[in-house]
Amino acid sequence: EQRDGDQPEFLQAVREVFESLEPVVAKHPEYEANGVLERLVEPERVVKFRVAWVDDEGKTQVNRGYRVQFNSAIGPYKGGLRFHPTVTESVVKFLGFEQILKNSLTSLPMGGGKGGSDFNPKGRSDGEVMRFCQAFMTELCRHIGQFTDVPAGDINVGGREIGYLFGQYKRIRDEYSGVLTGKGLEFGGSLVRTEATGYGLCYYTEEAMRVLNNDSFKGKTVAISGSGNVAIFATEKAAQLGGKVVTLSDSNGYIHDPKGIDLDVVKDIKLGHRGRIKEYAERVAGSEYHEGCAGVWTVKCDIALPCATQNEIDGDSAKTLIANGCKVVCEGANMPSTPEAIEAYQAAGVLYGPAKAANAGGVAVSGLEMSQNSYRLSWTFEETDAKLKSIMENIVTNSLAAAKEYGHEGDLMLGANVAGFTKVADAMVAQGIL
Ligand code: NDP
Repeated sequence: EQRDGDQPEFLQAVREVFESLEPVVAKHPEYEANGVLERLVEPERVVKFRVAWVDDEGKTQVNRGYRVQFNSAIGPYKGGLRFHPTVTESVVKFLGFEQILKNSLTSLPMGGGKGGSDFNPKGRSDGEVMRFCQAFMTELCRHIGQFTDVPAGDINVGGREIGYLFGQYKRIRDEYSGVLTGKGLEFGGSLVRTEATGYGLCYYTEEAMRVLNNDSFKGKTVAISGSGNVAIFATEKAAQLGGKVVTLSDSNGYIHDPKGIDLDVVKDIKLGHRGRIKEYAERVAGSEYHEGCAGVWTVKCDIALPCATQNEIDGDSAKTLIANGCKVVCEGANMPSTPEAIEAYQAAGVLYGPAKAANAGGVAVSGLEMSQNSYRLSWTFEETDAKLKSIMENIVTNSLAAAKEYGHEGDLMLGANVAGFTKVADAMVAQGIL
């Protein structure tokens, strides 16, 4: 805490994990003897660099780039890149730290990393985004590689950006390899990667509800926040499983459609021309738009799936959700619930699926993309989707087994922390103190 006192998001993520790990460390003296916790919170490497590029007016712009290579005990560093003005070292470190345990939970051989930039792509032309991506990769390419560190997308980094980043890596390194995931299908991408986080979130939620509450999505009203990659495909799968999704949002406000969101309209707005979610209410009769994104949690629902950003549900929003009858909160975004919100869920007996477990589907299919790149083949949609579903169901099973072992039956948060940590800790002990 002394060393990273100026990094609130990072400290928030570490505190939540360490509380769960107390009984594990007590049972395993070798973790303490090998300084596992002390080493776990110190990234193996942090790279911070200048990204200079020229905008459409001919003006030089300077942004800051980051890559945190957090832990490589169980595989090459793996984690997304985020382009957003709120990106700081603290944000990248919290995401990288969470990624270590998340990647471990998928059961695939991937270490933890994360990166990004404070670049804001909103309002930027395609050419500007391309030049930014090229400048960013010109430096990043020294630090990554298919066996070292394999970045992917995150907020504002989707197929377009991964394409530009991949092109620049290939050009500088003269090497065609699976150095990034989330690639286009024409150049090594995997089917289901686009859908993976949202679909995986719903597979996880459905399985957790089945095991813990003998229940399912069928007939449930679902509130979802965000309207990006994760939110769109969570909406699609929740509807396929029989739920009715009634909200979506962006950083300006939220829409409420009591009949159920018409996803074709959303896709046309967001994927078609990168529009704002407000447009939905102008096009769909009977729906409403409200300014202020936090208002989305005042809409009555049975299941809430936050899919926008960190700390989007505070204690008050959580209490409103609970008072309105919400019984399930599973996290598509990373760390969307504040500590006060988590306390409120636990006090009210809400089924709470934490991000590192519930949203692991994206990185899981990224891991499958790496396997396909190594084999130089591609699996069908059905095959990959079936693998994703089985990984998400196993995460529920393994989390519940770990929670039970430590006397916290049914606690998906403690279970995810413990199950993810144990594998990494054992590998760190086996590899010696480094
Ligand atoms: P996108 O960029 O596709 O969408 C992000 C959405 O969240 C947009 O609707 C955006 O609105 C909204 N949003 C972003 N920042 C804020 C903010 N500060 N306040 C309110 N709304 C905000 O990103 P993704 O869908 O990929 O990512 C969403 C979340 O899911 C993130 O937490 C990410 O880390 C997490 N995640 C993503 C994975 C993936 O595979 N893509 C994997 C695992 C987790 P606006 O357009 O107004 O900015």
